[in-house]
Amino acid sequence: MPSCEQSPTSCSSTRPSSCCGKTPAPASLAWFEEMIPHCLDFARAEHEQGRPIVGILCEFTPRELIFAAGAVPVCLCGGSADTIPAAEEDLPVLLCPLIKSTYGYHVQKSNPFLEMAALIVAEDTCDGKKKMYELMAEARPMHVLELPKRQGDASAGAYWETEVRRLITVLETHFGVSITCERLRESVLLMNRERGLRRQLAALMRSKCPPLTGRQLLRLKSSISGIPADLEHYEAIVQALAGKEGPPERADRVRVLVTGVPMVHGMERVVDIIEESGGLVVCQENCTGVKPLLEDVDPDAPDLVAALAAKYFHLPCSIMTRNDARLDTLRGLAREYRAECIIDLIWQGCLTYDVEDALVKRFAEEELGIPYLRILTDYSPSDTARIAVRVQALFETVRQR
Ligand code: SF4
Ligand code: SF4
Repeated sequence: MPSCEQSPTSCSSTRPSSCCGKTPAPASLAWFEEMIPHCLDFARAEHEQGRPIVGILCEFTPRELIFAAGAVPVCLCGGSADTIPAAEEDLPVLLCPLIKSTYGYHVQKSNPFLEMAALIVAEDTCDGKKKMYELMAEARPMHVLELPKRQGDASAGAYWETEVRRLITVLETHFGVSITCERLRESVLLMNRERGLRRQLAALMRSKCPPLTGRQLLRLKSSISGIPADLEHYEAIVQALAGKEGPPERADRVRVLVTGVPMVHGMERVVDIIEESGGLVVCQENCTGVKPLLEDVDPDAPDLVAALAAKYFHLPCSIMTRNDARLDTLRGLAREYRAECIIDLIWQGCLTYDVEDALVKRFAEEELGIPYLRILTDYSPSDTARIAVRVQALFETVRQR
């Protein structure tokens, strides 16, 4: 497992002013404030040139195969509360908001990426998604990857590899292309480059006085991987901020490790609450954070498809049983990022993350010996004040230690 390339920097809250001077935000940070319009411009331009758009809905889907088929993989996960009422015409009210929001875009036909998609590659991770896909597939071309749930079982890994190979056939048939070793290797190199850059960006947060906030870091996640301009801006940000430190007040904030469900674009409310309450999200272990970045694919592996399948099968998601890799990952991240507390975010209706929360609580309090908070919420802002009070109480506990 490659580690983050950036070395931690040290800086105490009583450091000389020359150590913690304000870091000018590079122009490249501003580029990502318009992430969705840039993605839309890119997708439309590629689409017009005949490159198919393929929607994906989970980090288990190997983007490399979609690139190797000459298509553009776009994340379709919904982060808007506005589309949920339309979804609830068909779906249970108590279902996870991420599923409902995604489905709401589908019924409203209001996600331009989804409307452009020639194919959706889905996966049977949680029950809610799996059943929602059946409804969505009535109107859109879809392939569902069958994901075995026992990560420690060799036959499960072998079955997953079969599913990955089946996806190759599906893509080749659907788009009339051949996924050659050469094309796959190029795609692996592209995704390794992106993962490497995003690891370096994440590692900036190891500093005692990081040059970014957690919210700024989250904003750097693009809905489309491999956009050349995004990669250039990642490089510019790393170059500009490596070894730099942020405003001195950041050194006094409570360092938070966030775990749990993904915080998809549009639904970053909990990070805002944490950082407006005196915290600093130094690391997100979830799928919109470092989880998908922790492992690369060896481009020189003798069997590239097998190596690709293995990388994706290692993802520590709560739909796995057991999911011990999640706690192992949290152990390493808590140490690397010097977390002072853990916040476990769960979308209402997400049973796997909700049940697994008991393990995270025990792990944080008994093994790591740091305070922990469970936040169960949905896409409605109605509980923002209540969450803020609980987060502030958590930080009070941290400060009293
Ligand atoms: S949390 Fe699990 S199901 Fe959700 S995107 Fe990540 S890997 Fe997929
Ligand atoms: S957050 Fe949970 S319930 Fe929602 S889509 Fe992801 S795994 Fe499924």
